[in-house]
Amino acid sequence: MEEKKDIKSMTLEEISADFRELGLPRFRAGQVFRWLSRGAEGFSQMSDLSKELREQLSEHYAVRGVEIVRKQVSQIDGTIKYLFRLFDGEHVEAVLMRYHYGISICISTQVGCKMNCSFCATGKSGFSRNLSAGEILSQVQSGSIDIGERVSHIVLMGMGEPLDNYENVLRFLELATCKEGMNLSMRAISLSTCGLADRIYDLADRKLQLTLSVSLHAPNDEIRSRTMPVNRKWPIGELLKACRYYARTTGRRISFEYAMIAGVNDSDGCARELAQRLKGILAHVNLIPVNDVTGTGYKKSGIRRQRRFVEVLQEHGVTATVRRTLGADIEASCGQLRRKHEGGTGHEGCA
Ligand code: SAH
Repeated sequence: MEEKKDIKSMTLEEISADFRELGLPRFRAGQVFRWLSRGAEGFSQMSDLSKELREQLSEHYAVRGVEIVRKQVSQIDGTIKYLFRLFDGEHVEAVLMRYHYGISICISTQVGCKMNCSFCATGKSGFSRNLSAGEILSQVQSGSIDIGERVSHIVLMGMGEPLDNYENVLRFLELATCKEGMNLSMRAISLSTCGLADRIYDLADRKLQLTLSVSLHAPNDEIRSRTMPVNRKWPIGELLKACRYYARTTGRRISFEYAMIAGVNDSDGCARELAQRLKGILAHVNLIPVNDVTGTGYKKSGIRRQRRFVEVLQEHGVTATVRRTLGADIEASCGQLRRKHEGGTGHEGCA
């Protein structure tokens, strides 16, 4: 039997074209697309379609979303961490946070990751596969259905490297912002990358109003190559060239993530070097005290070191803030739940 098509990853135009071939009227495509955009888990829920049509569609298409298998709610700030199961038994995580401007969800783009940053829990469990656009989208819908509220902001900063799953991530962006569908604003979506420079150029040329975050975490190649293997392929000079191009082409400010690791990248000298490197780029630095990950031996920088680092950056004309930690009591950082669930050691994580 021919494999069923993944209809959740299809655009309205693609569904319409398919349905035309099946001899179905155009409005049917709109109906089905709206159901999918609202998070329907299967055709059986699409109550305004006849039983025959639902059966016909389920012969051709699969609705592949995500299923909540575990949920932790922070007693401190209400942050929710989800563990989702995918159709093939794989797991990914997402974290939903409440801010004054709305509800934001941090979602995964891959099961595991190939990038192997030395401080990150996700890379330690290896890489299984890319998520489909529908699976990425479904994390947002599941969170929203679970809390009964609209999610206004999306952060592609969970498990995986979004630009290593470029096609599906772009498709996800198209689906998430589709007027007839979820209708999210591109400005309310952030994509975080460890720095695949070639893809940053590609993304820039699309001229999306997306917010780009770059995980820099070091001011020079010596430190960065030690902590982030991707730097051996795309050194800082190349990466920042791509960032300059991105900022120039899109007019959008880039946010640089910088996890402060005691004694590794948090000296005054590092701050000065960082400021030097970022000169002339429309940028903001987000400092994050590194999260403990078992086996790395890294410790977060103390509060005084964090403040001093911000001061030095500001003295050199770079704006920076220390990111507030949410969900501290539920280890609201990626990589931990999946590892625990699949037999890892547990206490580890990222931002
Ligand atoms: N692959 C993408 C997005 C996923 S990682 C990227 O690299 O940007 C999300 C963010 O968490 C990245 O900035 C990553 O560097 C950071 N991170 C990973 N482990 C961390 C840790 N232990 N402490 C603080 N930040 C961490």
